[in-house]
Parts: sequence; structure tokens; C-alpha cells
Amino acid sequence: MLITGIGELVTNDLGQGDGSMLGLVRDAAVVIDGSRVAWIGDAGNAPAADTSYDVGGRAVVPGFVDSHSHLVFAGDRSEEFAARMTGTPYSAGGIRTTVAATRAATDEQLAANVARHVDEMRRQGTTTIEIKSGYGLSVADEARGLAIARQATKETTFLGAHVVPPEYADDPAGYVDLVNGPMLEACAPYAKWVDAFCERGAFDVDQARAILEAGFAAGLDGRLHANQLGHGSGVQLACELNLVAVDHCTYLSDADVDALADSGTTATLLPGVEFSTRSPYPDARRLLDAGCNLALASDCNPGSSYTSSMPLCIALAVREMGMSPAEALHAATRGGARALRRDEIGHLAPGSSADLVVLDAPSYIHLAYRPGVPLVREVFTGGRFAGGPG
Ligand SMILES: [Zn+2]
Repeated sequence: MLITGIGELVTNDLGQGDGSMLGLVRDAAVVIDGSRVAWIGDAGNAPAADTSYDVGGRAVVPGFVDSHSHLVFAGDRSEEFAARMTGTPYSAGGIRTTVAATRAATDEQLAANVARHVDEMRRQGTTTIEIKSGYGLSVADEARGLAIARQATKETTFLGAHVVPPEYADDPAGYVDLVNGPMLEACAPYAKWVDAFCERGAFDVDQARAILEAGFAAGLDGRLHANQLGHGSGVQLACELNLVAVDHCTYLSDADVDALADSGTTATLLPGVEFSTRSPYPDARRLLDAGCNLALASDCNPGSSYTSSMPLCIALAVREMGMSPAEALHAATRGGARALRRDEIGHLAPGSSADLVVLDAPSYIHLAYRPGVPLVREVFTGGRFAGGPG
């Protein structure tokens, strides 16, 4: 299939187009063969194809890669949100409300909730989704959550160490033993990643290290939640262990920034959280100026960031975190791909996955320039039409 009439094509490939980080090609065309991109270039030079589709001068960007979400849950915390907006501070303990609702839900209810949110994400241009467990917090509930997530994506993350559940309130060490023993054993078959919430009120850095190392021994790759609510050693741990990504990074010392730059560990920034908890945003400019790798993700979850919109995250990153529109789009696509160790997504080049979004706009800049406007017109995932008016 030939997609032609592309006014502005973002390839995220330095070797194509204008030589900028976004590899912009004007008046472009893309040929898709099966699930892959077969050809990219000037519309005037496009080869013949069986079918062709003219997007009428609109912009086309790579599909968004949302490398951080928590979609396996039941219930709703809108009352907590309303209370927070009138002065009640956010704390990690709110997770327990969702744990109770998730444990009480049936498999069918949880699967329907995941499917509904995945569909919501796709309609907003997200073509790769990472999904974490972490609202079950028992062996059976974590394993079923990951089995359900696995039906929606191969990017599944075991987050038994999200918070200590109420039944282990007096024995957090016993809970870590459970996570690293029977829970890991039950969950590893359904997970690619292991993760922990390394934060005051959740798990300390020694516990997080033990959880990650147990996950490595079970064949999982590691990522970490750290430095969201205050300063701490989580980012240093992630860099020391050479994790591919450490997520949140809101409170960073100069040593943390240096460690991120030296290790190459991607800092995944989640501005939906700061927006939804009315908290100070991470300083993306400081990280970019230091040479760090950045990703942007939604952190979609019912407590601290109940948005599934990557365009909103891009707009917030530009308006509140010092990123340019180009840097924010790159972080939301190629940055997310890097944070998932994926080479074939997050950019458009011959051989890459044909994951792309047609915007109802002449330029990608509109993603930040027109916040809150539904600019995603059509979405293709693996070369297949996956949403939009067609
Ligand atoms: Zn999270």
C-alpha cells in the first residue's frame, strides 16, 4: 500500500530528510508491505503499489510508544482526585484502594477494562503499549493480571513491588520474600520486565535491588520507578545496574543527572502524574542539556495519572518541562522504543514496523500547539488500519 500526499513526514531517522533529529521529509510517500515499511521518499518518486491512499497534505508521524502504564485494575478514584484538587496531598498509599477493587473483580472484568483502555490509547495514536501488574499483590492476583495484560501486549511488567499490601503491613520483609519467591515464579512466564516502586512509603533501595536481581535471575529485564515524590537513591541504583530505563525522575541531584548521562539509562518522564497530582514537573531541559536519553509516557493508572493521551503528555512536556516540540515527539516515539529495547518501532525507515499516525494537521508541531484537540486522524499498527474515520 502506498500512502502519499504526506505534507510532512517524521521519520526519526537522521539518515533521512532534513538531517534533524526528526528526519523530516516534505511532500513524502511511504510504501507499506505487510507489517513493514518498504520504501520512504519524495511522493514524486514513489513506486507503484496495489492500493494507494492520499492523506491530502497532512503530517504523518511514527506511532506513539507508551512505555509505562498500569492498565490492569478495577474501580475508580475520582473522589480521591477531587479531594486532592482541594488540598489533600497524593501519597503512595492510595494504591491500596485500587488493590481492593482489583482483587474483587473477575478475570472478565479486568480483561474488558484492559481492552477498553488499549482501544482508547490506539485511537489517540499509541501503537505500542507497556502494561504493568501491581494492583493484585498476591501470587494469584499478580499472575492473572499479567496473563490478562499479555493478551494485549508483549511488553508486560511484573510490579509485585508496587506497594506493601495491607496483610503484610507489619512484615514488609516477608512481602519482599513473597515477591522474590512464589510470586515471581508464578509471574515470570507472563512478563518481559521486572519493576519496583522505589520511594519512601513503598520500597527502599536495598529492597528494590533485591527485587530486580531476583527478576534478572528469573530471566526478566529490569526497569524502575524512582525519584517521583522526593530525592532518593533509586536513580543511582538503576544506573549502577545498567537498567534500560528509570521512570519518573522528578527529583534529581546533579549526581543523578551525571549518572543518567554516563550510563545511557533512559529517564522516562511522566508529566500526566505531575499534572494530575498538581506537583512540580521534572526538568527535562536539564536532562537534555546533560546529554541524557529521554522518553515520555502516560503512566496511565487510576490514581496519579488517569490519562491515556500521549498527545497530552507531549503538550505538557513542551509547555511545562522545557522540551521543544521536536524533542517531545522524539521522546514519545523513539525514546519510548529505546526504553523498551525495541529497534523496529518508534521510527519509520525501510524495514521498520509500519506503525504510523496521520494527523489532522499540517505539522507535528500542532501536537503541542493545539493541546486537547483530537488531531489523530488515522492509526496504522503493523501496516493494518487500527483506528480513525478511514
Ligand atoms: Zn507507574
